Amino acid sequence: MFFGLGWLAARVDIRHLLTESRALPASYFKGLNFLLNEQPDKAIEALIEVARADQQTVELHFALGSLFRRRGEVDRATRMHQNLVDRSDLGSSQRTAALHELAQDYLKAGLLDRAEALFQDLRKTEFSESALRYLLEIYVTEKDWQKAIETAEALEVATGNSYRSEVANFHCERAAMEYSHSRLEEAHAQIAAALEAHRKCVRANVMLGNWAQREGRHEEAVAIWKRIEGQAPEYLFLIAAPLIESARKLGQTPEALTLLRGWQQRYPALDLLGVVFQATLEEEGAESALRLVREELYRNPSLGALDKFLDAQLATATPDQRADVQMMRDLVHAHSSRLSLFQCGSCGFKARTFHWHCPACGGWDTYPPRRNAEGELSQAGSNRSGM
Ligand SMILES: [Zn+2]
Repeated sequence: MFFGLGWLAARVDIRHLLTESRALPASYFKGLNFLLNEQPDKAIEALIEVARADQQTVELHFALGSLFRRRGEVDRATRMHQNLVDRSDLGSSQRTAALHELAQDYLKAGLLDRAEALFQDLRKTEFSESALRYLLEIYVTEKDWQKAIETAEALEVATGNSYRSEVANFHCERAAMEYSHSRLEEAHAQIAAALEAHRKCVRANVMLGNWAQREGRHEEAVAIWKRIEGQAPEYLFLIAAPLIESARKLGQTPEALTLLRGWQQRYPALDLLGVVFQATLEEEGAESALRLVREELYRNPSLGALDKFLDAQLATATPDQRADVQMMRDLVHAHSSRLSLFQCGSCGFKARTFHWHCPACGGWDTYPPRRNAEGELSQAGSNRSGM
């Protein structure tokens, strides 16, 4: 307690001294004190008093403004920054900085039109790169894909970084929009633009094949999907199920099954195995499906493959084995479906289905085409690493 009192006395003394000598207002120290005691509300009140009393404290205005915005008090942040913008005694670079803050306040408040206008103005200033990034965020939110494409291309020039996969994805988004409004010609033009922007844009061929299938052009659908092997074969699992479906319509299921088994051999993937397994089960029966999945389990052991293996075991089990196999299968299935998730390479967000656009961080093409549990048991196996 005495220590505390002594510390308090010393501090009051210093404060008094400083107030005297440097003419810093007492509320500044009060504010500082509240901040150190983790009482941000009181700190803000005290610091506002300083800012009001002493118009020279421009940096303090900036600090308070961004503090407000971070706390979600966008109205106060806006007022703080508007006040700075309106001041006549500020240099041009400080005024630009205040506009940059104000634009972010508008964005946070959801006033996208105002934010966009300010960021457009800021493109001609030292904040141009940051302005472009925010503009991109705005256009993606508004689903204004044409402007998003232009902004991503401007960012590519400004930063020297590649935005190819973003540009291709924006063309795909635009294609989907045009298609949903039955503007087929424009939709196809956008797909072509996506592939031109980024030759490896798998999404473009997935979509193109889906459209052909929906319109009953199954042969064309299969031909388009096959192109993905030349682009990035690890994504083939995305079209495996619809490919079998189209092949069935064409009466070419055995050929399609051979094709998919070849892919599974060369580019093993759990989701691909799932489709091959199901199709084999339906076409050739349980024994054949069991053989297929057992081979796969030995070749490429994973929890997911074990799950499929037990599925096949269940289908071929004799009545007295059934209960045991069922119990094992349910146990493994529960584990494997909990662990078998797609995970964003940028923010780590996990999802049951594959995404081109991360719902958490907004990244494009940030999901690797693999589930987490693939290769789960690979330490136990003799082959394959770095899955
Ligand atoms: Zn993410």
